[in-house]
Amino acid sequence: MMSFCRVQILVLVSLTCLFPATHGWGIDGHFIICRIAQARLSNASADAVKQLLPDYAENDLGSLCSWADRVKFRYHWSPALHFIDTPEKLCTYQYSRDCKDANGEKDRCLAGAINNYTNQLLTYSSESTKAKYNLTEALLFLSHFIGDIHQPLHVGFTEDKGGNTIDVHWYTRKTVLHHVWDVSIIDTSEERYYNSNVENLIDTIQQNITGVWADQVKKWENCNSTETTCPNIYASEGIKAACEWAYKGVTEDSVLKDAYFISRLPIVNLRLAQGGVRLAATLNRIFG
Ligand SMILES: [Zn+2]
Repeated sequence: MMSFCRVQILVLVSLTCLFPATHGWGIDGHFIICRIAQARLSNASADAVKQLLPDYAENDLGSLCSWADRVKFRYHWSPALHFIDTPEKLCTYQYSRDCKDANGEKDRCLAGAINNYTNQLLTYSSESTKAKYNLTEALLFLSHFIGDIHQPLHVGFTEDKGGNTIDVHWYTRKTVLHHVWDVSIIDTSEERYYNSNVENLIDTIQQNITGVWADQVKKWENCNSTETTCPNIYASEGIKAACEWAYKGVTEDSVLKDAYFISRLPIVNLRLAQGGVRLAATLNRIFG
């Protein structure tokens, strides 16, 4: 179903596409990343986010972190911006080779979108240029896309559309590999360890950020040079994790259960933490 959506995105809205599986982390994955990020904002950045969020969001970025998925069919140009595909099952990523849409149009991929919305948000304090953009939408797109780029299969292979055409069983339920990484691993983790409460999972990830991962966090936050954000680093890590963890050992109709879940859960938790930390770091660089 998702693969169909991905191919047909610019052509028509089919009925099956009206009820898609999520494109990107599921609602919880995006919510977790935005919640972690918002708690790490500088004062200036927290203020800018508050100003840009619509009133009904009540200053909760997490509540609108999946907005970009909901507007996919209204903004028919946007679905290609949620992922990157590498050709010939390559486990490496190169912007110049891979950042394009199905029609070959350059920059129309997840990394290009992150650069674009970062640049738009950089006009926030400039009265003369900021009117050119809808900076509320730019904030919501950027927050969502920094989440997506940390889901390993959002930087996946062209051939299987980021795991969307690989049928698997998650325990007893039929699904596709992409959905396992968007939703199933997180859901199973919440049910098994967190009393089905996403807030408990967020607390644990936050404790790890200030605990076991504390000495890595600076490295996650930093880009190579003076860039405001660095999606090429995030995408290179993503395709590596896709090869080493998501695709590894999985074939059509694989039955994935405890061995897969328990070995992959640390990767999902790490990517959620990195997504949140980097979204905050990017917004803090943008808003000063
Ligand atoms: Zn998405």
